[in-house]
Amino acid sequence: MEQFAEVAVPVPLRRSFTYRIPEDLADRIGPGVQVEVPFGRKKSPGFVIGLTDTPAVPVERLKLIEKVTYPEPVFDRQILDLAFWVADYYVASIGEVLMTALPGGIRAEPRRASTSRANEELGLAKVPKRLTSAQSAVLKEIVSSLRENSYESFLLHGVTGSGKTEVYVRAAEEVVRKGGQALVLVPEIALSFQVVERFRLAFGDSVGVFHSAMTRRSRQDTWRAARCGDLSVVVGARSAVFTPLPSLRLLVLDEENDGAYKQSDSPRYHAREVGIMRARMTNAAVVLGGATPSLESYANAMKKKYRLLSLPRRIDNRPRAQVRLEDLREEEERPRRRGTILSPTLAAEVAERIEKKEQVILFLNRRGYAPFVQCRHCGYVATCSDCDVSLTYHQDRQALVCHYCGQVKENVQECEKCGMIRFFFGGIGTQKVEEELAAVFPRARILRFDFDSTRRVGSHSRILSAFARGDADILLGTQMVAKGLDFPRVTLVGVIYADAGLNMPDFRSAERTFQLLTQVAGRAGRGKRPGEVILQTFYPDHYALTTAAKQDYEAFFREEMECRRELRYPPFSRMANLLFDGRLEDRVIEAAEWIASHLAGSSGSDSVHFLGPAPQPLSRLKGKHRWHLAMRATRHASLKSLCETAFDAWDERERRLSSVRLSVDVDPVDLL
Ligand code: ADP
Ligand code: ZN
Repeated sequence: MEQFAEVAVPVPLRRSFTYRIPEDLADRIGPGVQVEVPFGRKKSPGFVIGLTDTPAVPVERLKLIEKVTYPEPVFDRQILDLAFWVADYYVASIGEVLMTALPGGIRAEPRRASTSRANEELGLAKVPKRLTSAQSAVLKEIVSSLRENSYESFLLHGVTGSGKTEVYVRAAEEVVRKGGQALVLVPEIALSFQVVERFRLAFGDSVGVFHSAMTRRSRQDTWRAARCGDLSVVVGARSAVFTPLPSLRLLVLDEENDGAYKQSDSPRYHAREVGIMRARMTNAAVVLGGATPSLESYANAMKKKYRLLSLPRRIDNRPRAQVRLEDLREEEERPRRRGTILSPTLAAEVAERIEKKEQVILFLNRRGYAPFVQCRHCGYVATCSDCDVSLTYHQDRQALVCHYCGQVKENVQECEKCGMIRFFFGGIGTQKVEEELAAVFPRARILRFDFDSTRRVGSHSRILSAFARGDADILLGTQMVAKGLDFPRVTLVGVIYADAGLNMPDFRSAERTFQLLTQVAGRAGRGKRPGEVILQTFYPDHYALTTAAKQDYEAFFREEMECRRELRYPPFSRMANLLFDGRLEDRVIEAAEWIASHLAGSSGSDSVHFLGPAPQPLSRLKGKHRWHLAMRATRHASLKSLCETAFDAWDERERRLSSVRLSVDVDPVDLL
């Protein structure tokens, strides 16, 4: 009987396509094989996901597979099953999921040993001789679970500097000793180089690292080496969760609360959920680590879905940094002595550190010079022509830049509207802080560390090495300075504007603020000298700030859980967000309203709560109008079936609404 191939093609449709198999390829076609197929009027890459002898379409209408583009299957059963789960859970296209799992597909190239490595000059990782008793206790629990060879998930809650990385390394050693493989996920390789370094010290050439700067060739070499078992450990960011590892026994996800684990385009998967499912399917252990676990994960630990492990103290019992809230409201009463950005208190502390030859980190989560520029004459604020946001002034480039689409307006001499040339540079960005620092501390050596100052290849590690060597007094930066850095000479961390994230229209804004502030605070006092942190705020009574100041995670968790319970937000409910976008606003609104009314009648028994349809907080981006329909329910299954209903109805009206795109975000993390 003739066999046909079900092929997943990377298009946003939740189905596969049936193809005939040419005779000469018959013995090479099977699940996981990478092929090229005619699709519409073009050729498309695709992946065979199964065989059938009863196609749903008349045989004479089926096209032939063009060719097999890699000699062996590129996906094994493990990854295929995982991809099916992702497509189902996130209501996504299986073709897009597989393309995400293996970006760009893989090419048949001869294998060559490649030893390309990125920025290793920092070399800050050290190998501790003995674990502390707290570390040993934690490791013991993980190891005893590893001996069971069954699925188990742990939440390792430990403040920064408590020795979590060391626990990950030792657990991986246990796995590797027994011939297994470990997968270590970090939010962003460039910001986690100390974790990477530590694994390289422990495993040498048998650790493979996926980083964004690597060539296609070395990415593929690493992928092949992982697949054939040449690598014992793989370290990578989000999509590395799909790395083929035939003997996977342990999966570590560091900083599990980090937003980078959630993909922002389709398929909008979360590496933590996918990782947990992968571990379940393969009987591996999972260690989720972090200083400020996500509310969902900590709630899961409370419910005993995860086993909670904790490392409550820093290594060597170094005291935690002292955190002070500096009330900016009072500041208005007093005359300012120095600039306008640093309060007198913060300015005095910075001056003291510079004198003592200690180092300072200053944090402001906004790059550029001024977030908006207003004409003093007519009041016009320069906005992006394609996005619903104001343009940010960048002094170094003397240009206005859109932080969402990258649009640049150079040589802004006069107001676009009235032609006058007097501007007000509103708000503050890192460049404005840099300017003020230079004025207030003329002898201080300042390094700015943000997206703009690290754009050139190598500048990232150049800045950090310079700071590590003591070539600068102040490291000023965006959230890039918040993560993972370990500089023993830093004794003061100043947060210029601690409330920046609090006013976002998102139910996670308090959680994000708490996490970020705790993370930043963790950069102070990593050496022998104690650290101090100053948070400048207009809301000194807000629980996100008071608990961050006390570095009391449990207190924050209790308060925040109360708010979530009252408003029925996750983890007390599940959410899915249907997203509509298109160039024509009327069409977008029409589509959103039509789907909303269609779903209102079919929500079934589980009481689903609809929020919207309404414009998304960022209502226009890159020329596209954006609306959404958020849904909340007690069970994921109810939301999933509503999303499916929406897509089915959509497919029927596809032609009419073709100027609008519908996509879905299951378990949304970012509601902007
Ligand atoms: P975390 O991952 O929790 O931030 P790390 O594992 O990076 O913490 O440890 C913080 C610092 O303490 C690192 O410099 C590390 O080398 C050191 N360290 C970790 N474990 C020990 C130990 N048992 N004895 C001495 N130093 C240690
Ligand atoms: Zn724009």
